[in-house]
Amino acid sequence: MQIAARCPKCNAALPIAAADAPTLIKCGRCGREIPLSISDLVREDRIVDRCPVCSGGDFYVRKDFNPQLGLTVVVIGALTSAAFYWSGRDLVAYSILASAALIDLVVYRRLNDLTVCYRCHTEFRGGYERRADAFDLHTADVLEKEYERKVARR
Ligand SMILES: [Zn+2]
Ligand SMILES: [Zn+2]
Repeated sequence: MQIAARCPKCNAALPIAAADAPTLIKCGRCGREIPLSISDLVREDRIVDRCPVCSGGDFYVRKDFNPQLGLTVVVIGALTSAAFYWSGRDLVAYSILASAALIDLVVYRRLNDLTVCYRCHTEFRGGYERRADAFDLHTADVLEKEYERKVARR
């Protein structure tokens, strides 16, 4: 499992391999030390049961979507189709636009799910079993505030 831990101070994403993760990492940007307690299930890439950064047990699942990639496909498609449209071949223009949208859809659907910690936004990628539900705004609101208070007290 690959973990992208979030620095509580500067919000930098810190990549860690769960299988041989240290017990303490240091943020490369602001130098804050972040203790990690990785559970056995996380280390073995089976289930995300406890967050190694904040020890929270509440997660949601979302698509591992790269918005930049999707946008590039759509923009290139739109530009190419505009060129054809301008030269009077609108049928070609429409089909290019349609295939750009289709490529976007296929790329998006092929992406894997990743698990995110509600409290500290640490991300988990791997072949483990997805158990968490989709994002819930109310839960996020409650748990993020709880975590912010906890971090501020440290
Ligand atoms: Zn930092
Ligand atoms: Zn967390």
